[in-house]
Amino acid sequence: VSPADSLVHALRGAVADAPDRAALAYFDGRLSYREVDELSDSVAGHLAARGLERGDRVAILLQNSPHFVLALLGAWKAGATVVPVNPMYKSGEVRHVLHDADVRALVCSDRAWESYLRETAADSAVSVVLTACELDFQTRGDARVLTFERLPQAADADDLVAVARAGHKAPAGRAAEPSDIALISYTSGTSGTPKGATNTHGNIMYNAERQRTGLGLPEAPVYFAMAPLFHITGMVCQLAACLDSVGTLVLAYRFEAGVVLDAFAEHRPLYTVGPSTAFMALAAHPAVTPDHFASFVNISSGGAPLPPALVEKFRAGFGPYIRNGYGLTECTAPCASVPPGREAPVDPVSGTLAVGVPGPDTVVRIVDDQGQEVPFGEQGEILVRGPQVVPGYWRRPEATAETFPDGELRTGDIGFMDPEGWLYVVDRKKDMINASGFKVWPREVEDVLYTHPSVREAAVVGIPDGYRGETVKAYISLRPGADEDPDALAAYCKERLAAYKYPRHVEILPELPKTASGKILRRELRSRPQDSQ
Ligand code: ATP
Repeated sequence: VSPADSLVHALRGAVADAPDRAALAYFDGRLSYREVDELSDSVAGHLAARGLERGDRVAILLQNSPHFVLALLGAWKAGATVVPVNPMYKSGEVRHVLHDADVRALVCSDRAWESYLRETAADSAVSVVLTACELDFQTRGDARVLTFERLPQAADADDLVAVARAGHKAPAGRAAEPSDIALISYTSGTSGTPKGATNTHGNIMYNAERQRTGLGLPEAPVYFAMAPLFHITGMVCQLAACLDSVGTLVLAYRFEAGVVLDAFAEHRPLYTVGPSTAFMALAAHPAVTPDHFASFVNISSGGAPLPPALVEKFRAGFGPYIRNGYGLTECTAPCASVPPGREAPVDPVSGTLAVGVPGPDTVVRIVDDQGQEVPFGEQGEILVRGPQVVPGYWRRPEATAETFPDGELRTGDIGFMDPEGWLYVVDRKKDMINASGFKVWPREVEDVLYTHPSVREAAVVGIPDGYRGETVKAYISLRPGADEDPDALAAYCKERLAAYKYPRHVEILPELPKTASGKILRRELRSRPQDSQ
């Protein structure tokens, strides 16, 4: 099977092959491939009739609901570029994206429109608004996840579901080329102001195909969308790979461990992917049993460090082996993964778990500060070249030239390769702690903390220190019922790490701050007041 030019082409193929198969499952609701195609055609027809032109930007601020998928495919069928936006963003963050991407059409929940987006979008170029009540497709009404109620449709916005059901025809002649920009994906912002990476349809289809053929899944698999669809991992590894495989995608609005476990029991998915923090939350849930994971053929972690201790605890407790995977928004999610039938080795010196091996058309190089390649085992910056690397950032020629010299992605991550071709990510270059001139990589310290039975989440940062310049501080959240003394945790690390690496300060918090895609925000922890020290 040759890859389709875009997900719209893949959808049309799926409708020809299996029109009545469920494409989406949302609580008790189902939408077949034929329905998804017809409903998204109607959205496309409406957008075109409202003046949206090829290449115009459509922002989508929705959780994991069928509305997200209908809006996405509808916008692509109208020839538009989609800007997925985290629906938890505050007004200032949304305003930045609406202006930066010069957004013309906005799709959001009716509640968000009423409560803040109407005002936020007032001075932007947005002229078409579609709102949706994300309860529409489900009948269970689970108050744990679906906390808002239907509002009367705003007079100044069209109702997405009514538009989808109106039977409009998609405009002709707007089929996407592989080089067209499909998405402007704003990086999740763990390192500062979000920039928009321009993922092309070709970038997405390449990685969707890699997922379809590289996960060891049978025909027509059931995927569970654990990662949010507005983040590139969810979009590509779940939605794009599922539609490309003519599978069924189970959506559950947003991550909530109890709801996710119920959905595993009901839908028996074969594949899911999420950040390591999601697996920590599932493992800590009181109702979790090995049976919840019995149906999985492949379960992957991506987008954030995966502590080896978590992989082992998970396997011992529940059965499945969590596969690591490495990627960035700038390479359209994964560029290295653990092939089926193999297990990622742990580096004996640093204790780091390998993230995987680069894909077949992907070249990963490790270079020193002068740009020279370093030998196996030596650390340097990870550079990636391949069909999934985006052409650049949206309207940022300088940042594009700096991050993609000659089309090769400078990841800003430090890593190394071993002679067998396994790639290891040490940490982000900018997160290195300089303690009296000694380099400390937070990841290594976190990996040790995760071996402690009471630790649920750990994040290590550098804080200012009059004597050392910087010193190591660990923030911890504990497993339910655990009661641990911070000094005992520091002593635990001291026994296992070189003297300059162990955390001189340990603070226990009820919960660590995270991005909506589940990554722990070290940046936020670094800026916490330190006067309690
Ligand atoms: P920003 O670019 O604003 O800082 P972000 O880096 O979180 O946001 P993403 O593109 O979502 O944006 O994340 C990519 C980063 O996630 C990588 O550069 C790397 O640091 C980290 N990462 C991804 N996968 C792994 C992994 N398997 N192990 C360790 N780190 C990983």
